[in-house]
Amino acid sequence: MKVDASIVSEVRGPWRTETIEIDEPHAHEVKVKMAFAGLCRSDEHLRSGSMFPDGAILEMISGRPTAYPAIGGHEGSGIVESVGEGVTGLEPGDHVATSFIPSCGRCQYCASGRQYLCDLGAHTLVGPMISDHTWRHHLGGVELNRMCQLGTFAQVIVVHEASLIRIEPWYDLRAAALISCGISTGFGSAVNRGGTKPGDTVAVIGCGGVGSGAILGAVHAGARAVIAIDTNPSKVERALKVGATHGCATTLDAAFNILPELTMGKNCDVVIITVDTFQGELLEQARSITAKGGVIVVTSLAHFGQVALDLDVFGLAMYNQEIRGTVFGSESPRVQIPRLLRLHHEGRLVVDELITREYTLDEVQKGYDDLIAGDNVRGVVRF
Ligand SMILES: [Zn+2]
Ligand SMILES: [Zn+2]
Repeated sequence: MKVDASIVSEVRGPWRTETIEIDEPHAHEVKVKMAFAGLCRSDEHLRSGSMFPDGAILEMISGRPTAYPAIGGHEGSGIVESVGEGVTGLEPGDHVATSFIPSCGRCQYCASGRQYLCDLGAHTLVGPMISDHTWRHHLGGVELNRMCQLGTFAQVIVVHEASLIRIEPWYDLRAAALISCGISTGFGSAVNRGGTKPGDTVAVIGCGGVGSGAILGAVHAGARAVIAIDTNPSKVERALKVGATHGCATTLDAAFNILPELTMGKNCDVVIITVDTFQGELLEQARSITAKGGVIVVTSLAHFGQVALDLDVFGLAMYNQEIRGTVFGSESPRVQIPRLLRLHHEGRLVVDELITREYTLDEVQKGYDDLIAGDNVRGVVRF
């Protein structure tokens, strides 16, 4: 069938709507009519190419030396239209959220309750369908990659069943799109990976969609203070509306103007890095406002292959501090997405206030222009 999708054709090329060809779902695949797609910052890493290794490695993984052309989008929600052979967990009419980490339920990681580390995650960077390693999405005879095996910037998607999370039909599909990645990742960064406890002081560096999720998580975990740090004053202002107790522009600002009085110089128990692109100097900045015995959570994407870091290793050891990386906030998508949606349904999780604007599929480029200009916490495409 022919559907419209927003694709990027070359490194740093623009988002452009094209009419593409999608095949019917093969075994273990599902066709979904999209309702909403979130404009997450990670898709900008697809466009800039910063999330990809070099051509030789791409060729080894996907059979060709480039990630382009590719359909963008990994946050999303929709309604199942049809299912391929062997799909038992979903049927037409089911409401679903997409998950950028597939969860097969059977590999060692899934079986031990760590579905965010599912072995199928190895396929998400580039390449054909997980199910049978053939391509399902085409543009003029060229096979299309899809962001995280999803490509939610399309009216209809065909994905592996492991990439979909069934949700109750009374849940809000727009909130589901945001919770499908950014909010869940941030929330888990504070609660699961950061281990925020009642009475803790938490700092969140970078207050976009994921950072907002981290603030929500810290508040739900019972933090006594949540410091929102962002160089963009409008993001700090928004953060204060969703539960942050203090706001400032930099870690230095927090170190001198907030923490001495707030913590009597003890600093933060948990510091979460959720900036758009991780830079090496950020780690020491985060560590410098972390308490003795505190935890630094690295949630942000860095450029592929980045190894250089600033870190006072003497301080790290003598203050008994920990650095922890996280993917999907270290929680299973099949647990986290329905759980946060239920909280949202009951009016106990702020999500709608984070949506700055809705866009059409043709406006994906405008949505990212707004995001880069700092005018947007989260934009969503409404189909
Ligand atoms: Zn995302
Ligand atoms: Zn698995």
